Amino acid sequence: MKISKLGEFGLIDKLTSILQIKDSSVVVGFGDDCSCVNIHGELILFTSDIQLEGKHFIKEKIEPEDLGWKLVSINVSDIASCGGIPEWGFISVGFSPDTELEYVEKIYTGMKDACDFYEMDVIGGNTSASDFIFLDLFLTGKTGKFIGRNGAKEKDLVVLSGYTGLSRAGLELLLMDRKKYEDFEKRLIKAHTRPLARIDLSDKIMRYANSCIDISDGLLGDLRHIGKNSKLKILIEKDNLPVHPDLEKFCRKYNKDPLDYVLYGGEDYELVFTVSEENVKQFENCFVIGKVERGEGVFLKYKDLIEKLEEKGFEHI
Ligand code: MG
Ligand code: MG
Repeated sequence: MKISKLGEFGLIDKLTSILQIKDSSVVVGFGDDCSCVNIHGELILFTSDIQLEGKHFIKEKIEPEDLGWKLVSINVSDIASCGGIPEWGFISVGFSPDTELEYVEKIYTGMKDACDFYEMDVIGGNTSASDFIFLDLFLTGKTGKFIGRNGAKEKDLVVLSGYTGLSRAGLELLLMDRKKYEDFEKRLIKAHTRPLARIDLSDKIMRYANSCIDISDGLLGDLRHIGKNSKLKILIEKDNLPVHPDLEKFCRKYNKDPLDYVLYGGEDYELVFTVSEENVKQFENCFVIGKVERGEGVFLKYKDLIEKLEEKGFEHI
């Protein structure tokens, strides 16, 4: 059987069943944004994520400094979604021998800027020759309490940390290959090339959220993980979904449906989490977009209509 038949998540299930975790200090293994190990009473987080040329980025379409920044941000985002803060990174890279040194240095400058911003260090790694560029970051972090995808509780509110869909609009603009972009278009492109991990919320997520995930594959696809892992149903209020004014402009200009971007656009690196009604006041600048109920699946409510949302999250295989 070809692995494409299984899809990304089917393949992950198959492979992780081969590797059986024996060590009892592993608190969380496969299947969440980070793994978590209890090391002498401290909860240490581990995650890794990759940027592959031709798959995650096109060399001519992203500045090398932005690529370095993005690589760090996407990993920090996974740490933040578990209620943690990042500590140490290990970088594995591959470049073809004819790559310009200056280009590689610029990637590392972007990584350094991100490390300074998120207050972490990259402390080791590995380099290899490769036909295409790959940048793989392994990152550790720490938390006082692991917040996973499986902790949602019935009657929790579903909260979104910011706007979604901007990154996908930015990517589409980049792929249009235009000479000139309007200011709002430049901002959308920046949302795609230079995402910001919501590390500012880590502490509150750890203290008050019951479940959390970062939005890499699209709001709906990632919410589905919370619903599935928590064995509960997620009900989203369509009117509560925030649409950023820049995305609105984009959709008007190119005749697109904002809902499609908000629900299915990927690589936003915002957080979506569930929290009790009592604790929701801790998250002032976030959007309450729905609630958790008994049942399964993700549903969209609009006036009196409730529709089950189809599977359309991004898969990498
Ligand atoms: Mg994630
Ligand atoms: Mg990730």
